[in-house]
Amino acid sequence: MKKYTCHDCGRTLQHDEEYMPYKVDSETYVKCKSCHQKNPVLKSFRKTEIYSRVVGYIRPVEQWNEGKQEEYKDRKEYVADSGCH
Ligand SMILES: [Zn+2]
Repeated sequence: MKKYTCHDCGRTLQHDEEYMPYKVDSETYVKCKSCHQKNPVLKSFRKTEIYSRVVGYIRPVEQWNEGKQEEYKDRKEYVADSGCH
């Protein structure tokens, strides 16, 4: 289930909420119904503050997960090689 955030007001849209999608290159931007009624034109499709904040937040979490996975793998290999229980 994909979550959409309104381009204008930054609100996360509910699953059953009506919205208006805007395709810009490979990106899809959406507006909630009330923002679309106020202004049906996507006036600026540069990445909004909300979008860059989301990107900035996701990246460190991914790096942390990779590091954790590597650490876990190393630990398992060490136990197998040592052969002592
Ligand atoms: Zn909105």
